[in-house]
Order: sequence, then structure tokens, then C-alpha cells
Amino acid sequence: MSRDNQFDVIIIGTGAGGGTLAYHLAPSGKRILILERGDYVPREKDNWNPKAVNVDAKYNTKELWRDLDGKELHPHTNYYVGGNTKFYGAALFRLRNKDFGEIRHHGGISPSWPISYDELEPYYTRAENLYQVHGNRGEDPTEPPAGKTYPWPAVNHEHRIQQLADDFRAAGLNPFHTPLGVMLDEKNPRLSPCIRCNTCDGFPCLVHAKSDAQVLCIDPAVQYPNVTLLTNALVKRLETDSSGREVREVIVERNGVLESYSGSIVVVSCGAINSAALLLRSANDKHPNGLANSSDVVGRHYMGHTNSVLMAISKCPNPTIFQKTLSVNDFYFGSKDFEYPMGHISFVGKLDAITLRAGAPAIAPGFTLELMAKHSLDFWLTSEDLPDPNNRVTINREGEIVLTYTPNNLKAHDQLKAHLQRAMKQSTCSIHGHECHQGLFARSLYVGQRIPLAGVAHQNGTIRFGGDPKTSALDVNCKAHDLDNLYVVDGSFFPSSGAVNPGLTIMANALRVGDHLLQRLRVPVVEYAANGSKSSVAQTVMG
Ligand SMILES: Cc1cc2nc3c(=O)[nH]c(=O)nc-3n(C[C@H](O)[C@H](O)[C@H](O)COP(=O)(O)OP(=O)(O)OC[C@H]3O[C@@H](n4cnc5c(N)ncnc54)[C@H](O)[C@@H]3O)c2cc1C
Ligand code: SF4
Repeated sequence: MSRDNQFDVIIIGTGAGGGTLAYHLAPSGKRILILERGDYVPREKDNWNPKAVNVDAKYNTKELWRDLDGKELHPHTNYYVGGNTKFYGAALFRLRNKDFGEIRHHGGISPSWPISYDELEPYYTRAENLYQVHGNRGEDPTEPPAGKTYPWPAVNHEHRIQQLADDFRAAGLNPFHTPLGVMLDEKNPRLSPCIRCNTCDGFPCLVHAKSDAQVLCIDPAVQYPNVTLLTNALVKRLETDSSGREVREVIVERNGVLESYSGSIVVVSCGAINSAALLLRSANDKHPNGLANSSDVVGRHYMGHTNSVLMAISKCPNPTIFQKTLSVNDFYFGSKDFEYPMGHISFVGKLDAITLRAGAPAIAPGFTLELMAKHSLDFWLTSEDLPDPNNRVTINREGEIVLTYTPNNLKAHDQLKAHLQRAMKQSTCSIHGHECHQGLFARSLYVGQRIPLAGVAHQNGTIRFGGDPKTSALDVNCKAHDLDNLYVVDGSFFPSSGAVNPGLTIMANALRVGDHLLQRLRVPVVEYAANGSKSSVAQTVMG
């Protein structure tokens, strides 16, 4: 193999995990190759077009997966530089302190992590700085302890959301400002990169003001001469040496041609489903069940959260433009009348009639879809699903991804909905009183297919980390137990998923694994300044 194809580190995937890691390792001077199957998201007006994005699914992959019965599955996922962070709602939460321990749920046990919250805490702070998170500490009653304040103040509520926050507070709840990765400077709107628009959650940002892994990580990383990015580079297989202990070759399809690259260290970060698929496809005689899979856990324990979008229709209109500013965690760990964890309440971006028409919700009496869109508060409810070994990713004979999933812990989600319904009924307005609230209406999340299985936005858990090689595929540094130079840094490593969005935890963990890799490569570990920029060499590595 020519030296041009040999690297110190190969990173596969440029999303929350791979992108963040690439940014962290870029100043090391090591030869780094980043392989991304997608291209850059084209900058075009359709970026902000609800029909193109939500109805025509213009930017979703056209790849076909299967469910257990062999039926077609059109996954709601995106293959681009920056991965799914190009499309995410940028609600950037830390897991709660207790999420790292074992928790009893109504539906079973959420297992503990092999690291504590305290071990990840400094990396959460660094990730919040890097991704410019806007938030207020001290408002969320379940918030874990944090070493630093958020780098930016919280994004303010618009009038209708502020009114709801006041109502919730009057009803005894503790609404708080959602921590958000948008580059909004409310004090200086003229110079603010973010214009606070209504096409953020689920849309790519046309003006590059969303804190995504392309803009904040990959773009700066490729400025370093030692970093090479290949786009449209689909990794097909990982080949090991004859001992089976090292990945020796990364086989890539580019422009219809197979190419081979080698790296002293190979990091897989394709998203939890594709990473598991890649390891399973890379089976060989030393790894007959798939690479790094002597434990037989690769592909298993798939989690994706139980999510609902619920529209609360009121007589009062909701003219909010940027709706995703409010969250409620009062029911996260349980309530007086339901002692088990229920989850997290927040918002999706403001729904519009075009998107609603495709999702076909039940119509509120006396309302049209247009009116519903003008009057709805559009909640996003998240409950934890538990790691079930039978919920899994496999590969069929044709090489296609098969996703098998039976939802669990659903009672917790029903209870969460009931609590929201009660809280809404308590809300009052000066014009209509309690009658203002007309009820909660479910919107089918999965426009077009309406198949819950296709909603894989929060995918995680398929290559879990842990101390025991019999029950986990990765060690605490996210290195494969079975191989010496293979790491995984996307959402695959979660042993349990908590009930907040996974992005920040993936980013923080990528920085943590990045520090480990710098030590392994004998490179000084670089500290981040408070504003997220790299400052000085803070620590020299140990031998
Ligand atoms: C609409 C939407 C809204 C969301 N909102 C939020 C939110 O508000 N907050 C939050 O925390 N999370 C949110 N998420 C989830 C969040 O985006 C993901 O958790 C996160 O991006 C996962 O990071 P990852 O590194 O695991 O994978 P990804 O970000 O998916 O990155 C994987 C990358 O690997 C590439 N790849 C895959 N296979 C291969 C291969 N074989 N060869 C080469 N490259 C490959 C892909 O193209 C992709 O770029 C949202 C997701 C979606 C879709
Ligand atoms: S301008 Fe701001 S609100 Fe609009 S998509 Fe970009 S980051 Fe989101």
C-alpha cells in the first residue's frame, strides 16, 4: 500500500461523534483521514422549504432497509458531511446524574454505565463550549451539577411560549429554557449569524448558524494540512490482519471503485445502526459473528427513545416563530402518582399546514388544518426505551440492513402524556379561561411512510461499552475488547439511553475518547478555552 493510503487515524463518519473527534484530533499533527459516505448538504432555498424537507424528504437517504418481516423501511436519516447534526433541532442536553446508574422503570431495568457522570462532566462542559450551547443553569430541577455556566445565555421565549411557561409555573411545574446550539446573539441581532427562523428543527441551516458538526468541527479540522476528508466515500468492510487483533484495511467505495486505506487507529462513527451494520458485514474467520462481536452484542440493544409529537390546540393563536425554547423535566424520574421515570417534555419546531397535511393528524372539532397549525403548541415527548437484546440490527442475505424493534416501557410514555394533558387543562387565559385549551392531538411523526420504526433519529446502543467483554463490545475507552486498534464513537456505545436527546452526550464522549487517543498517540492533550477555541497545551502525555 502506498504511503498516500496510510494514516495514523482513520475516522469513518462526520456526525456528532466522528466530526467532534476529528476536530479534537486535527491539531495533533497526526495524519488523519476522514471518510464520509455523503457529500456536503447543497446550499439552496430548499434547505428551508417545508415541502421539500418534510413532505418530499428531499435530503433523507434513499437507501432501503427492511423490518423483521422483510417489509421495506425508508429510514429517516441523512448521509451528509456533519451527519444528522445538519438536520437536528440542536437541543443539547446532558444526561442526568442518575442516568449513569441503574434505574428501575415500569417496563424493567435501565442498566448503569461503566463511567460516572463526574467522569463525563468536564467533557460536557467542553462540548457545550464547542457547540456554543445557549442555556440557563439552575432552572431545571433534574439538572446535573456543572463546572461552568453555559457559554451563551438561554434563547428567550416568544410571547406565547412565555405565557405557557408562566401557566406551567403557576401550576407548580418548573419549566426551563431548552439548552440550544444555535448561533443566536439576541443582544446584537444585526450581527447575529442566526436569524431565529421557523425552519430549524429537521432542516439544514441555510446560513450555517446552527451548531452542527460540519460547520463547527469538520470545516475547521480540514484546514489542517495533516487532515484529509474524502466525501462520497462509503466504507464497505474492515479487514483484519491474520491474527484478527488489528484492523489492517478499510475498504471504501468511491465513484464506483473500491479503494483501500490503512490506519494505525480506526474509529467507526457511522451512527448506531450503520456502525453495527459495518461490523457485522466485516465478519471473517477470526470474527465469524462480525468484527468485535465475540460477546454477540453487536447490533443488539438498539434503542431510539419513545417519542410523540402532540399538538395542544388552544382558542388563542400561537404565532411563535422559533418554538423550541421551553422544556419540562418535572416527570423525568416519576411523580407522586407514578413512581417510575416518565421522561422529558419539550417542543418541536413550529408545525405548519403543509407538514401537517402530510402527517394527517386527527382534526380538532371546528378547526381546519391551517387553523390547527396557527393555534397549536407542538410538544415533543421523550421517554426512555430499555435495552432489549432482541431489538437489533442484522444484515440479510442481500446485505441490506434489517431493523427489528418491539417498543417497551410504553406505560411510562402514556403517563407522561397524561401529565401533560393535566398541565394543559390547568392553563388558563385572560380571554377564554380554562376553555382556551381544546385538547391534545397526536400528529403522525412519520410523514409518508408513517412507520414508527423508520424514525431512527435518536438511534443508540448497538455496540455498547462496558467493563465485561462477555456483555459489551467496547471497553470504557470505547475500544473494541476484541481488537487493539478499533474504536467506536457514535451513539452506539450507550448502555442505556436516558430520556433527553443524545447529541451532547455523543459529542462529550467523542472528546473523552479523543483525549485517550491523544495519550495513546503520545500527543499533548489540548485544553479548550471558554469560548470553545483551542488555547494552550495543558498536559503532556504519560508513557
Ligand atoms: C430531525 C432530527 C432532529 C434531531 N434533533 C436532535 C436534537 O435536538 N438534539 C439532539 O441531541 N439530537 C437530535 N437528533 C439526533 C442527533 O442528530 C444524533 O443523535 C446524532 O447526530 C448522532 O450522531 P452520530 O455520530 O451517532 O451519527 P450521525 O450524526 O448520524 O453521523 C454518522 C455519519 O456517518 C456517515 N456514514 C454512515 N455509514 C457510513 C459508511 N459506511 N461509510 C462512511 N460514512 C458513513 C453518515 O453519512 C453520517 O455522516 C436529531 C436527529 C434528527 C434526524
Ligand atoms: S437561522 Fe437560526 S433558527 Fe434558522 S435554521 Fe439557522 S440556526 Fe436555526
